[in-house]
Amino acid sequence: MSSFNSSLFRRQFPALAQPGVYLDSAATALKPQAVIAATQQFYSSEAATVHRSQHKAAQDLTVRFEQTRHQAAALINAAGAEEIVWTRGTTEAINLVAQSYARPRLQPGDEIIVSEAEHHANLIPWLMVAEQTGARVTKLPLGADRLPDLALLPTLLSDKTRLLALGQMSNVTGGCPDLAQAIALAHGVGAKVMIDGAQGIVHCPADVRRLNIDFYAFSGHKLYGPTGIGVLYGKSELLAQMVPWQGGGKMLTQASFDGFTAQKPPYCFEAGTPNIAGVLGLGAALSWLEEQNLPAAEAYARQLTDDAEHRLAQLAGFRSFRCSGSSLLAFDITGIHHSDIVTLLAEQGIALRAGQHCAQPLMAALGVSGTLRASFAPYNTPEDVDRLVDAMVNAVDLLAD
Ligand code: PMP
Repeated sequence: MSSFNSSLFRRQFPALAQPGVYLDSAATALKPQAVIAATQQFYSSEAATVHRSQHKAAQDLTVRFEQTRHQAAALINAAGAEEIVWTRGTTEAINLVAQSYARPRLQPGDEIIVSEAEHHANLIPWLMVAEQTGARVTKLPLGADRLPDLALLPTLLSDKTRLLALGQMSNVTGGCPDLAQAIALAHGVGAKVMIDGAQGIVHCPADVRRLNIDFYAFSGHKLYGPTGIGVLYGKSELLAQMVPWQGGGKMLTQASFDGFTAQKPPYCFEAGTPNIAGVLGLGAALSWLEEQNLPAAEAYARQLTDDAEHRLAQLAGFRSFRCSGSSLLAFDITGIHHSDIVTLLAEQGIALRAGQHCAQPLMAALGVSGTLRASFAPYNTPEDVDRLVDAMVNAVDLLAD
């Protein structure tokens, strides 16, 4: 085990005072006190909104709100804060690209390539826009290593391909395809690339400039921040080509009954009063993350996952769907339904997720109706692994014929 100090890390998470073992961080991460304090401070002592009122509190708050945009830009090495659009999360960010970038451009017969490993958030918006425009969604199949098979990508790309939608890290297998390779191939035919960073951002924020990513999306709540806030990164020249999606206050410079003039990006995509507490909380999460020894924390969580996988593999019928090196452990027990197991685990105080993980095509490709998924974070402990293993032994004992 690395020298990472898990108990110091743990102490920062008030939710861990609750009984039970939390192994569902890939669904949403627990929040450190620093994030809770930032949102609480906004609601308890800030009497202001942003980008509207002239009084000092509102002006100061607007400055802090915009500073967080710079922080988010720095996290992924965007060229500037104007490339960061606040959204409700990854889902909204991808829908924004589908509706504001892709929809006005797609023609009947155009193609969008989507990997088979995608979360529904990076599939359904493309199916919707395909239906709206007459474009086609084509599948990039999963390979034997449970990663999208990039060797097949050149056979799918053509001058009809307008966009490739790919996840940085699967929320089931934890697998990370080679983004640089995929992006270079897609750009080779002039297609744009949408990278779903919802899981990847937690473990390795993408360097959008080094990788030449066109669009990148992530959610605050998986990155120790609040729910309801997320980011769409878009290259500035692409954001400039997009049409506003939602209309309302502050997304325009002038309005009359004859029409309106939209603001520049990112503001033209942020109609209405934004999620100020969410932005400030995400800013607190990013500042807090900078103070953590993340490589050691990551190595520690991976080691816990290795141990859990190794010990659970002693159970008859255990199958792992994990891509090695990830802190997500998707698994099942042959002959026992995942829902039955998760119910017994829940009764023993183990919080993890079972089902299709919003990735039904991936489940089909893996040949399963669903899996269990234990996702580890640096606030987990070797005792959590013990409790998971003990609870699994009990569950399998009860459920096996
Ligand atoms: N993509 C992936 C890979 C995810 O894991 C998730 C969250 N489960 C999403 C997209 C959607 O994120 P959100 O629900 O925060 O919009």
